[in-house]
Amino acid sequence: MLERLPTPWGLVRLGVAPDHPKLKEVSRAFERTAQREGFRFFGNVELGVDVTHDELTELYDAVLYAVGAQTDRRLGIPGEDLPGSWAATQFVAWYNGHPDYQELEFDLSHERAVVIGNGNVALDVARMLALNAEELSPTDTTDAAIEAINGAGVMEIVVVGRRGPVQAAWTPVEVGELGDLAGADILIDPKELELDEASEAELEAAPGTVKRNVDHLRDYASREPQGKPRAIRLRFLRSPVAILGEDRVEGVELVRNELVEGRAVPTDDRETIECGIVFRSVGYHGVALPGLPYDERTGTIPNDAGRVEAGTYCAGWIKRGPTGIIGTNKKDANETVALLLEDGAAGKLSHTDERDLADVLVERGASPVVYAGWEEIDRLEKEAGEPHGRPRIKLATWDELLSASGGVPRSRDAA
Ligand code: NAP
Repeated sequence: MLERLPTPWGLVRLGVAPDHPKLKEVSRAFERTAQREGFRFFGNVELGVDVTHDELTELYDAVLYAVGAQTDRRLGIPGEDLPGSWAATQFVAWYNGHPDYQELEFDLSHERAVVIGNGNVALDVARMLALNAEELSPTDTTDAAIEAINGAGVMEIVVVGRRGPVQAAWTPVEVGELGDLAGADILIDPKELELDEASEAELEAAPGTVKRNVDHLRDYASREPQGKPRAIRLRFLRSPVAILGEDRVEGVELVRNELVEGRAVPTDDRETIECGIVFRSVGYHGVALPGLPYDERTGTIPNDAGRVEAGTYCAGWIKRGPTGIIGTNKKDANETVALLLEDGAAGKLSHTDERDLADVLVERGASPVVYAGWEEIDRLEKEAGEPHGRPRIKLATWDELLSASGGVPRSRDAA
């Protein structure tokens, strides 16, 4: 297993919200696999820098890419790049301790934050901003993020969906847990939940998950606000047309949409929400890998059920795009691995270079973090968290991670 970071497990460590520790337990399954004979981990190794795709196909019978989707989708509206307009993915990476994002400075002093999008990432961001000190303290959120969120001036977090409550992409558990937040009321104007005829019919025919989403929303709309210190306000059928401000974000201009055959179509009805920070949470986008084919439109590696060609495979978000939860990706990986095994059984897999990857990397001047190095990081983090009742306190800079793992920094200037 090759990984650019010194630590394994991708979004389980650096994407899953820190207040969802149960979801992170899937790493135990990974740890069991890692103990199997023949498994090796090489962290701090970057494709195209330390080793190329062609070299890997010469060294191994098969190479499988499971690199996810590393960037965010763009809104394509004026003001998107103003200071204070962030991709939700940047905020998520920051509060989770991703070493490439620790220098970011989120100004949370403003009274209102706007989150664009109606997916689970939008809910993660809104909820993290709304957690109070008691809720944050037992998590592995970085100390910097805990301090910033505890001290934040943000009182209202407005989550804006371009379509209606029936069409939202989030899932019931995530919508339901909003109602349990100790420090934030969930505010929905009941008018926002009025459905047009087509949405009524869609809801009628929809799976139980969508019905449960709407039930939760109706419950929130019927509640009296309890005067909790913060509030999450959910808005529907509104699209951002511009992020406003001179030198930094001062507001978002929204247009009201109508649904036409399920699509959001703008009306002439506009409004401005004043805010000091915006999180754009409209999905991830995969990036091209050196030496591999890439479809810019979908942000994926062109493939057939996970096979790029015999010997090269992909799984997860870089295979099908950035949708689906952990279970979806498990099924997806099984599909790819079945093809890999089929190609193996058909005698289509072979390698031509008998050297050991470890030797090739060392020759190249790379300094891989091996599995024992990760185990040391893991041990130190858990040990630091234990006295505070936290699962771990993450090492969050390249230097900390590499020195804990026994690795040495490679020059990343060229990367
Ligand atoms: P997502 O589920 O695809 O949601 C993206 C949202 O952005 C949708 O509401 C979409 O609306 C909206 N959107 C897209 N383009 C837009 C635009 N131009 N203007 C306004 N809104 C726009 O993506 P995600 O939230 O990034 O999550 C990615 C995947 O990770 C999802 O499968 C999610 O369930 C999963 N995830 C799961 C958890 C969990 O299980 N707790 C947590 C985080 C993420 P339309 O529907 O109208 O396109």
